[in-house]
Amino acid sequence: MVKPMLRSRSKKKVQRRTPGGRTVTHYKKKKPAKQKCGRCGRLLSGVPNTIPSEVRKLSKSERVPTRPYAGVLCAKCVEDLVRYTTRFEVKFNYPEFSGMELMRDLTIEKFLPRGWFDSISKK
Ligand SMILES: [Zn+2]
Repeated sequence: MVKPMLRSRSKKKVQRRTPGGRTVTHYKKKKPAKQKCGRCGRLLSGVPNTIPSEVRKLSKSERVPTRPYAGVLCAKCVEDLVRYTTRFEVKFNYPEFSGMELMRDLTIEKFLPRGWFDSISKK
């Protein structure tokens, strides 16, 4: 029987063949769940899902893509967010577009800094 700390379903059992021909059980930590987009729930690409001690050994560029909101939002949602903020900046900064009808989307504004809409609409 193995150590009490290994008699747990939170460990993953892996059968390994040793050089001597025996089959032994190795106990590994389970992988965490895959990272998902905070807005649409799609799986994030370019983000590893290994245990934190393994993630720390990776270089920074291997941990997360070099893009704003990387590791938080998927590429499509970042594009939506940039388009959304640009539309409102144009509406409030250029008088010829002030009559533009725009719907607010709180699923996007959730990821913008607190008070973003107030600061942009007061200008
Ligand atoms: Zn998304």
